[in-house]
Amino acid sequence: EPLIEARDLYKQYPDGQVRALNGVTLAVAAGEFVAITGPSGCGKSTLLNLLGALDRPDRGEVFFRGESLTRHADLDRFRARQIGFVFQSFFLLPTLTARENVQVPMFGGTLGASDRARKADELLGLVGMSKRAGHRSGQLSVGERQRVALARALANDPALLLADEPTGNLDSENAAHVLDLLTTLQHHRGLTLVMVTHSADLAERADRVVRMRDGRVESGAAATAP
Ligand code: ADP
Ligand code: ADP
Repeated sequence: EPLIEARDLYKQYPDGQVRALNGVTLAVAAGEFVAITGPSGCGKSTLLNLLGALDRPDRGEVFFRGESLTRHADLDRFRARQIGFVFQSFFLLPTLTARENVQVPMFGGTLGASDRARKADELLGLVGMSKRAGHRSGQLSVGERQRVALARALANDPALLLADEPTGNLDSENAAHVLDLLTTLQHHRGLTLVMVTHSADLAERADRVVRMRDGRVESGAAATAP
């Protein structure tokens, strides 16, 4: 059974000129690393939003471990626990420190304040941001913010990480570091990775490349055996 599966998704925005998604079917196995590529406007971000239940399809369904999100009782809680997001649109809170930002998804969970802070520091260490833990995120560079956002996405040990160009703002050294980290998390913690990217380096590391065009999956729709 796939970890996450899209079945025949259609999506058109109210003011959209074209259908953003035009019958997308895609399965991702637990522990798989999938890169989604394709020209600008082909529907990659729309698909990522639907997989993360941030928006709903006009038609079709998304299943997580076989359970339809459409019938899910508590989507917000489900999302916070199971899915980590690294999206440009999920801004860090600029007046909070990196350490505080990473803890935001942990509120409402079971960890007390000192455990939250310890976990945040551990995650900031993973992304190479220990020295910046006490800096307000508004004082960090774009690349540093991207790494803090990755630490925040991992805060609740999600089963699935959805990322939109996670290395897009990083220089090649930091991009390579983040890629190493992501593959380590995949191999050692069984993290499932679905990433939209234009980076050939990232696509090369993925188990599978899904190519999209005009709101459809052109190739790579089926899950590979992990
Ligand atoms: P990609 O991520 O591959 O660049 P998107 O999913 O962002 O593609 O966009 C797919 C299509 O949907 C494009 O035609 C885009 O203009 C349109 N679109 C995306 N978001 C919106 C929106 N919020 N309102 C209207 N149209 C949108
Ligand atoms: P709202 O009620 O907030 O105006 P919607 O009715 O579009 O917006 O969505 C209600 C909730 O369902 C939102 O939290 C939305 O994120 C969530 N949702 C997202 N994707 C799906 C889905 N595939 N099926 C059902 N609900 C979804």
